[in-house]
Order: sequence, then C-alpha cells, then structure tokens
Amino acid sequence: MELNITCIPGDGIGPEIVAEAKKVLDAVAVRFGHTMKYTDILMGGASIDAYGVPLTDEAIETAKSADAVLMGSIGGNTTTSPWYKLPPNLRPEAGLLGIRKALNLFANLRPAVLYEELAGACPLKEEISAAGFDMLIMRELTGGLYFGERKTVEENGVLKAIDTLTYDENEIRRIAIKGFDIAMKRRKKVTSVDKANVLDSSRLWRKVVEEVAKDYPEVTLEHMLVDNCAMQLVKDPAQFDVILTENMFGDILSDEASMVTGSIGMLASASLNDSKFGLYEPSHGSAPDIAGKDIANPIATILSASMMLRYSFDLDKEADAIDNAVKSVLKEGYRTVDIMSAGCTQVGCKQMGDLLTQRI
Ligand code: NAD
Repeated sequence: MELNITCIPGDGIGPEIVAEAKKVLDAVAVRFGHTMKYTDILMGGASIDAYGVPLTDEAIETAKSADAVLMGSIGGNTTTSPWYKLPPNLRPEAGLLGIRKALNLFANLRPAVLYEELAGACPLKEEISAAGFDMLIMRELTGGLYFGERKTVEENGVLKAIDTLTYDENEIRRIAIKGFDIAMKRRKKVTSVDKANVLDSSRLWRKVVEEVAKDYPEVTLEHMLVDNCAMQLVKDPAQFDVILTENMFGDILSDEASMVTGSIGMLASASLNDSKFGLYEPSHGSAPDIAGKDIANPIATILSASMMLRYSFDLDKEADAIDNAVKSVLKEGYRTVDIMSAGCTQVGCKQMGDLLTQRI
C-alpha cells in the first residue's frame, strides 16, 4: 500500500520527534511491504519566519491532498519569542486552528494509557495504579459551548455574560459513529458522558447516542454524568475503554485523564474528519526549553503515527507492531530523561527512535 503523508515538523522539538517517527514508519514499511511518501509543510513559527504567516494556502492544499497528516508541535517560548509580539491571528497557534478548520476535523481522540513500567509516575494510589488503564477520550471538537453565540451586555448597570451551548442531532450522530467505530477496534465499550439531568443538549446527546448504538450490537454502551466521570477517572480508571463526550466536557476530562498517566512525553492524539482523514500529533507542546538537545521523548509522536496507521489506513497489525515496540523498549528499561527512574538506562531522542525501529 502507498501511504501519502503530509508531515508538519513544526517548531522547538517538533523536527526532532517527527524525524524519529518517520524512521519508525520506514521500518514498518519495510517489514510489511508498504511505501511511505512524505511531503513536509511549514506551520507555526517556522512558517512565520519563511512566509510571514503561520499557515499558507499552499500548505493547506498539500495537507488536503494527503491521506493523513503527521505533526510534531508548533509554537515557541510565549514570553521571549518574537512570534508572540505579532497580532493573535499571525501567531503560531493560529496555524493550528486554521488547519483544523480547513480540514474539518471534528473528532479529537486522546488515548490515556498507564504502562506497567511507568506506574511509578502515576499520581494515583498504588492499589489503583496497579490495575493499569488504557482508555481513549473521544471529544467533539467543533460544536458546543466554545462555538455557540456569546455576548456581554449591561442590564440596569449590571454586566451580564451569555454563552450558548448548542448541538444539533447531526453533529452528535457523526461523533457518536466515530466513537462506536473506534470502540469496535478496541475493547468494545463506550461510556457516553453528559449532564442529562440538567442540560437539554445532553438529553439530545443521550437520545442520539442510543440510536447510533443500535447499529453496534457488539458494543456495550453506558451513560455517565460528567461529574461522576471526573471522580471515576481518579477512583477506577481501569473501567473505561472509549469515553465519548461533547467539546467542553472532553476538554476537561482529557486533561484529567492525561494527568493520571503522569508522563506527558507518552501521550498521542488524533483529530479526524468524517472520512478516514486525520491529523495526528503528540498531546504535548514544542518544549522550546529542550529543543535541539536530543533529549526529547519521541514516543508520543511515534504512538501518534501508530494511531494514524490504525485509524486512517486500517493497518492494525502495523500499528500493533509500533505499540508492542514501545512496550518492549520500556520493559527493557530504556527511558528518555522525562520518564527516567532509578535502575533504568537513559537514552536520547535519536537513540529512542533507533531502539524502537530495531524492534519493529
Ligand atoms: P510543552 O508541552 O511544550 O512543555 C511542558 C514541559 O514538558 C516542558 O518542561 C517540556 O520540556 C516538557 N516536555 C514536553 N514535551 C516533552 C517531550 N516530548 N519530551 C520531554 N519533555 C517534554 O508546553 P509549554 O511549555 O506550555 O508550551 C511550549 C509551546 O508549545 C508554546 O508555544 C505552546 O503554545 C505550544 N503548544 C503547542 C501545542 C501544539 O502544537 N498542539 C500544544 C501545546 C502547546
């Protein structure tokens, strides 16, 4: 199979971690008989330096013509970098918002996995972390409170702010279908999170999710109120497989789930549209404080590449090969500095990429 991938190395550690992900993908191509075709585009600070804008129309067109996009990270030091003296619409992050919009990426996937070998980094009690966990938060990304009408008015000398939370059934249906499709590739359980005891938008959410569930008889569906879910994530995270939720709840819960893994350098993410197309990137930023030192952890980006194989190309065996390589390297005691612990062998970004490549 020929995989046509647009890469966005980006800023800071971005180019270093994307280079390692390409190395691992090339090893997958050799082992499984595929061809990887990469086209790099600039985005964020790198694009500002070259073209004066964080994302060009040409870059968007290149991304649109690919099967999937693999990204490092964009942005610089927000206090010292000259990029942050520019107006907001010309800063690095505007590139990210621009590409998400241009590619109509409405579904955000963030896996939160606690690897046995990294259980020490988990801030939860040992009896909870010992069970491990492997969940995926599926967050609606383009609707809800963040995109509803908002205004601030003054009534009788009193300031009043209004935000609107709107979802129509089509927006709910398309994210629910994504959630169930992905559950079918995992342990076949969906926890739909809402606030149906209070909000109309949540009651519609629940109704539509139940309709979609009828097409997936193998998947177990449960509903959970968002406040309970926030508690369950720290009390019993092992119960979750796919958590399906709307934009604001997903924003908060996905950060909570990330934090309980304790290792930012390990967290992958993906944003999908309604075809197989997706943008895959680590959850962390461009870490300008460690850029160019060959110490960044490339695993989050490499696991994002694994998600790309699984969700955009349906190459599950190939994705498993990457996931298993990560597990082996951790088991053998290799660690980048961010996940280092006593008795392990510290390696740099390139060496971690090499170790993973050898285990594909
Ligand atoms: P950050 O995630 O870049 O860094 C936070 C801390 O984690 C730093 O100490 C950093 O060294 C460390 N870290 C992050 N990734 C690491 C890795 N792979 N290996 C080892 N250590 C790692 O967050 P920040 O410092 O708040 O932001 C830096 C820049 O990144 C900002 O310009 C911000 O806007 C941008 N950012 C971009 C994205 C994106 O591109 N999607 C996301 C978040 C932040």
